[in-house]
Amino acid sequence: MKTLKYSRQRESIKKCLMGRHDHPTADGVYASIREEFPNISLGTVYRNLNLLVELGEIQKLSCGDGKDRFDGVTTPHYHFLCRQCGAVTDLPLKPMPEAERYAEEATGARVDSHVIYMYGICPGCLKE
Ligand code: ZN
Ligand code: MN
Repeated sequence: MKTLKYSRQRESIKKCLMGRHDHPTADGVYASIREEFPNISLGTVYRNLNLLVELGEIQKLSCGDGKDRFDGVTTPHYHFLCRQCGAVTDLPLKPMPEAERYAEEATGARVDSHVIYMYGICPGCLKE
């Protein structure tokens, strides 16, 4: 019964992430998930998020601002962080696997993944 409840919570956490594209922190997921599971703790949300990351069902983003964010989209894509409002959005750029080949040629290493974070001011903040 206990495991069933936990997997229901985990499913719900995953569904929450699939339904939003703002790359929430654990706190943000916690706030949404509490509507459905009022007694859930932040620790449980955190554990489930990290388990989903380990299972490869979601991904964790560390954009360099000290906050872990979570993304329900696991296919390769790049991100933009607004320095003003802190919003993290998907960059509509095609993945660049050739960058890994260049790095391999330059270093002799075997490269199997890469991430790109771009930083600046988002259109909404530019308008203000
Ligand atoms: Zn902004
Ligand atoms: Mn994303």
